[in-house]
Amino acid sequence: MLEIKELKVSFHTYMGEVQAVRGVNLKLQDGEILAIVGESGCGKSVTAQSVLQLHDPAMTEYKEGKILLDGKNLLELSDKHMQEIRGKEISMIFQDPMTSLNPTMTVGNQIIEVLREHEKNSGGKKISRKEAREKVIELFKMVRLPNPEQRINSYPHEFSGGQRQRIMIAMAMACQPRILIADEPTTALDVTVQAQIIELMKEMQKESGSSIIMISHDMGAVASIAQKVAVMYGGLVVESGTVEDIFYRHEHPYTRGLLESVPKGGERKDKKLESIEGTPPNLVNPPKGCPFADRCKYAMQVCKEHLPEESSLSESHKCRCWLLDSDCPYPRLSLSKY
Ligand code: SF4
Repeated sequence: MLEIKELKVSFHTYMGEVQAVRGVNLKLQDGEILAIVGESGCGKSVTAQSVLQLHDPAMTEYKEGKILLDGKNLLELSDKHMQEIRGKEISMIFQDPMTSLNPTMTVGNQIIEVLREHEKNSGGKKISRKEAREKVIELFKMVRLPNPEQRINSYPHEFSGGQRQRIMIAMAMACQPRILIADEPTTALDVTVQAQIIELMKEMQKESGSSIIMISHDMGAVASIAQKVAVMYGGLVVESGTVEDIFYRHEHPYTRGLLESVPKGGERKDKKLESIEGTPPNLVNPPKGCPFADRCKYAMQVCKEHLPEESSLSESHKCRCWLLDSDCPYPRLSLSKY
């Protein structure tokens, strides 16, 4: 349904051109949950937000590639056409609901406006305020917000962080979008609330049949919600596959590093977690070879000089690493002890 092909996105900043996304390919099928993971600055949010073209047009250049929704390239649509797609076909949940909710309006009125605007844009029968209000109460019940009939009249600051994220999910689901993009939806929440929000998103996805793109750096959350995972580093997808491919058969040293930084069940609480030494590359002047070479313990001369091509390990599993080359002196990671 949604296909991102060879997408390249740059930002023009006072430091120079930041090549934030450098040739990304991704596919999302109907009803699927795809997680995009990686450290800050790896290009995951830029890739997802490019689908809705939410970046400042004065700074952003979609240099190459296509974003196809049912075969239609979203990058070629007019602003008006894109406006119709936002909310109706594709919705977004941001990391911090406080920056997305209007602090001067009750949460009920904000969603009522979204619903009425949506009906107007779809050319359907204009929905009355009363009908819209009833729909919002239904949505609040769906996201399990307590006392929806009363809380519909409250302002964003009167809710907890977890409740605000539930309201954002209700708002995103109001127009029954086909695709929901959730950008680090649980990062600002405490661990218990994070688990509740992930559970809620799973339930909503099951009920609505929407597809979800979830941006995350939390591999635990990814394992519990996603069917497919794309690991991004230095503006590229370095490994992608099913959850099983990524968690049990990964081949990229960066994927392994991410997984080693996740606490595992049964481990002592005071055990120090592994971290990946070093910092991500500067994308104003990205390395010509593998972007992970400076931090990779397997790096070879070829890694520094040439960017590895994407290798297909199975129909679902792809990886960009010289360790997969037949002349490589090291064994494949999936064959070595984890
Ligand atoms: Fe490491 Fe080389 Fe693979 Fe990059 S291509 S991840 S540097 S082994």
